[in-house]
Amino acid sequence: MFTHTCTVCARRQLVFTSQITSMTNTEAGIVVLFDCWCGAEQTWLTGKSARTTRRTPVAA
Ligand SMILES: [Zn+2]
Repeated sequence: MFTHTCTVCARRQLVFTSQITSMTNTEAGIVVLFDCWCGAEQTWLTGKSARTTRRTPVAA
């Protein structure tokens, strides 16, 4: 799980693996698509190739 600030509802909340709808490896990094608690589809760019990340991983 990780935290995310939604671009629609502006809430910073925990995102669980059950909310993830897809993960795609790209040259820019791993693009994670997931649904926010408000229902909005969100993206998270992560992985070694990602230049920056604003999400903080949370230990399970
Ligand atoms: Zn939201």
